[in-house]
Amino acid sequence: MIRFENVTKEYRLTRTRSIVALENINLEINRGEFVSVIGPSGSGKSTFLALASLLDKQTNGEIHLNGKRTSLLKDKDRTNLRYELCGFIFQFASLTPALPVIDNVMLPLLLRGEQRKNLEERARTLLSDVGIKEEYVYHQPYQLSGGEQRRVAVARALLKRPAILFADEPTSALDEATAKDLIQLFREINKQGTTIVMVTHNKTLAKEGSGLLEIKNGKFTKR
Ligand code: ADP
Repeated sequence: MIRFENVTKEYRLTRTRSIVALENINLEINRGEFVSVIGPSGSGKSTFLALASLLDKQTNGEIHLNGKRTSLLKDKDRTNLRYELCGFIFQFASLTPALPVIDNVMLPLLLRGEQRKNLEERARTLLSDVGIKEEYVYHQPYQLSGGEQRRVAVARALLKRPAILFADEPTSALDEATAKDLIQLFREINKQGTTIVMVTHNKTLAKEGSGLLEIKNGKFTKR
């Protein structure tokens, strides 16, 4: 599903200075895997997610996504491929405060010009699947707990049926029980066929997936 071939990412700081965030990475994540990415702060985890999800471009090497050599794609085709394949959950739920829960779930697709009436039923089903009670559907995000807000963000990411779900520390600032619940939800989503790539600081939660990628000094080991 995701294959890195000799991938290097260098950030240019000034004309003469740059930082190598990832160096010569080779790895493969297969369809249906649930991979946790761990490593110290500054080791390149976010850079890895940004490259794998085509949000950013590598300096050298090739990234294959769903069998496509992405370095050959035009910007427009990269954006479309990302839209087709990738769902995102960020560190904080990042819901839009002024919109009811269900509108938050539909917002990314509404912004792409999809019709509300075609999205609403699936949005409701997803909210129920992730454990949001029916009566909360028209609540504002602030009326929900932190764990519930993350669940809404999961429903939002799943609305377009992504083949890969990228999650950047999805359990940050959640208590242990709520974090475990969220990971259980990820497991269910994974069982239904979605490949999951999750960055986490939490070593216990990292072991809940089917694979572990450990990154140190811009190098990965897969366990
Ligand atoms: P992590 O997610 O593991 O904390 P990052 O991928 O954010 O690590 O960062 C890896 C390295 O690349 C760090 O040294 C960081 O300072 C550097 N870096 C990340 N993003 C940028 C950027 N946009 N410009 C310059 N350096 C960056």
